[in-house]
Amino acid sequence: MSTVTRRIVIGVLLALVAAVASVGALGATGRVVLVHHPVPGRPLAIVEEVPGPETGPACPLDARYVDEQPEGLRPDVLRAWERLRAAASGQGVALCLNDGKRSTGQQRREFEDAVRRFGNAELAARYVLPPEKSMHVKGIAVDVQPLGSAAWVERQGPALGWCRRYLNEEWHFEYDPAYATAGCPAMLPSASGS
Ligand SMILES: [Zn+2]
Repeated sequence: MSTVTRRIVIGVLLALVAAVASVGALGATGRVVLVHHPVPGRPLAIVEEVPGPETGPACPLDARYVDEQPEGLRPDVLRAWERLRAAASGQGVALCLNDGKRSTGQQRREFEDAVRRFGNAELAARYVLPPEKSMHVKGIAVDVQPLGSAAWVERQGPALGWCRRYLNEEWHFEYDPAYATAGCPAMLPSASGS
């Protein structure tokens, strides 16, 4: 075998190994997020069906909350969450992810549960949105606990693209890279706008 032929054979083998390894990795995570360059502001159906964790280990700062894995967030939002968490940690603040990604089905169950608790859909929507409106379903929202940590995010998050959006949800933040340059939009009374 000539040196050139040998190089080609080795190259093909390496490519095969890489291909098998990447397919294996996708199989292990059980989900494939195909959207790497999402258009800002446009809902992504393929992301909306990706479920988030139902729960997670107890938040070390306050066991009433959990600290779930940031799985299922839109890829750029996941990176932004990791930057936010690292910035907080650098200032000695721990952030617990009490809730992040939800699928349409998870959000629908939460909404239906809230309708039962509050008695009607209008009241329920002030606290839990129906799936077609929720930013958790779109994979761009996080609920940060405990409230002391959420207060840190409210102060320091905007520079990293994280803004609090609702007066009645001190823990709920949404990511948009434009917030880092343009600042946060005016807060709404609640997620339903009223
Ligand atoms: Zn939320």
